[in-house]
Amino acid sequence: MPSALSHPAPALAIAAYFGRDRLSRSAVVVGVLCSILPDVDLVGFKLGIAHGGMLGHRGLTHSLPFALAVGVVIATIARRRDPRSHYSDLCLYLFLATVSHGIFDALTNGGSGIAFFAPF
Ligand SMILES: [Zn+2]
Repeated sequence: MPSALSHPAPALAIAAYFGRDRLSRSAVVVGVLCSILPDVDLVGFKLGIAHGGMLGHRGLTHSLPFALAVGVVIATIARRRDPRSHYSDLCLYLFLATVSHGIFDALTNGGSGIAFFAPF
């Protein structure tokens, strides 16, 4: 089962594809954090959120729309802070880093399925 230590591996591999001229070191660090971010839904266990619900574990935060939103929002913030940043590269990288989490979870035989298309 992937862990907080293994989820960043695909983010680092994807960053290597983009190269240092297209992604800054800080962008790669953010990508690593994005690869772990979907498991923030584990907080739902403490809050009593149903496991199989959209806000439960492997629900909305593991979906493609969530990953897209993460990529667009963070890349937009980065562009405002540094107009020289490669917006489309950063947006695509953060999307792929975030969505890799759900894909890796889906490749395991533990836990429930992944709601890739939540909330639709
Ligand atoms: Zn997960």
